[in-house]
Amino acid sequence: MKILFVSAEVAPFSKAGGLADVAGSLPQALTSYVSSMHVITPLYGQIDRQLFSIIPAGINGEVVLDKEVIPYTIFHQANVNSKVQTWFIESEQFFTRPGIYTKPNGQGFDDNNLRYFFFQLVVLDLIERQLLSVDILHCNDHHTGLLPGLLKANGIKIRTIFTIHNFLYHGHFSVEESKILPKLLLSSLSMTQWNNYSALLEGIDHADAINTVSPGYAQALLLGENLDEHSHEHILSAQHKFSGIVNGIDTDYWNPETDTYTSVPFSLNKLDGKLRNKLELLQSNGLDVNMKAPLFGSISRLVENKGFPLIVDLLDDFVAKGAQFIFLGSGDEEIAKQLSKASQRHPGKIAFIDGFNEALAHLIEAGSDIFLMPSRFEPCGLNQLYSLRYGTIPIVHKTGGLSDTVQDWKTGQGTGFVFEPYKLEQLHKAMNRAFDVFKMKSEWTDLIRRAMSQDFSWDRSARHYIRIYKT
Ligand code: ADP
Repeated sequence: MKILFVSAEVAPFSKAGGLADVAGSLPQALTSYVSSMHVITPLYGQIDRQLFSIIPAGINGEVVLDKEVIPYTIFHQANVNSKVQTWFIESEQFFTRPGIYTKPNGQGFDDNNLRYFFFQLVVLDLIERQLLSVDILHCNDHHTGLLPGLLKANGIKIRTIFTIHNFLYHGHFSVEESKILPKLLLSSLSMTQWNNYSALLEGIDHADAINTVSPGYAQALLLGENLDEHSHEHILSAQHKFSGIVNGIDTDYWNPETDTYTSVPFSLNKLDGKLRNKLELLQSNGLDVNMKAPLFGSISRLVENKGFPLIVDLLDDFVAKGAQFIFLGSGDEEIAKQLSKASQRHPGKIAFIDGFNEALAHLIEAGSDIFLMPSRFEPCGLNQLYSLRYGTIPIVHKTGGLSDTVQDWKTGQGTGFVFEPYKLEQLHKAMNRAFDVFKMKSEWTDLIRRAMSQDFSWDRSARHYIRIYKT
């Protein structure tokens, strides 16, 4: 089987969230089962071409977008020691600017619809010109949702799988904007109740197989949780081709024993290194050095559904109890303001780092005691998996992938603290429980050991994807 994996973000080249991590590690895990694995993604301005040895592949072309002819150039990595071949699409008009989806001020680019429609047209062009030999096209999220329909509309008999990493983002085209889409596609393009065309629903309607990134989230979507009626109808009519496969993680890149971003390695049998990471984390972020105080960590896009409305209301209370907090995140300005104010109210107790910082993300995983991830909903979630691997005990809401991957603590059992329903009082109770267990030294060490013994490597999930490819 020859697979082409299409994604708007691919780690380590470009990353805004979990999609990048999956696009960077799942294809790698699939290589043992397929004859060729290619990944294609935009060449954004901030991608370091020199660092990754990204050079022109000798392929140029052009596509017609809204009656305008737009050129593209294909790049690839030279001298890669990887079975995955990654292709990059360069376009002065759409991708060379810095930023993946947003400007430096966090606002989305006005032409995102055009940019990702262009991305998909280039993929289609490369397939039509037979420059990429493909049996199965693996599309991811709304940025690639039009491809299954585009292939059909152009009579190309390549099978498609569409993976939904987050149902929140549709890729909406207004009726006016949709005029740039080919007529053939438009006749079948899925409308939402807001009178917009949805690239996400289009992917659901036309792909040969669909999956989302955990069985729990698949179930939630089938039940229509957090969904408008229209979207729910589309999901239900695709039920026969719909499944949930939990994400794995790159266990080499997220490995406390070999992590190149942290200075002190640690493991299940050598846990003292974790404390030295905590010390470094406290010191380098202006937090009081109090090793006995539980340190709650958080790494997240700052958006409402990651649970911030609950978290910010509990900070004063838990600081008064002696807890410390470190938040790393960027996104919503209002949430950033609230975290920033909390850190000013409690200097030395709460640190907020506004921005995207890969190295600090690794140190927070390594040095925190407890990881806060009370998402209102969560398709899979990766940070709770990294946290388990680094012995940083997650507090999660019982939803989607979080409930599939974290088991609630009871004496001698469990890997984290799970609460429901999504209410302030319930999160408060879960944090209190974590606080109490943290003080019971041997119980806490056992909990860390159980967390670190969990296996979230890709292998089992990769085999599940292979079964879908074969079908
Ligand atoms: P989502 O995809 O909804 O953002 P996930 O938990 O699935 O959530 O994945 C988020 C990924 O992005 C993780 O690898 C996380 O470490 C990373 N991440 C999020 N925000 C930041 C940040 N501010 N700095 C560094 N890494 C971040």
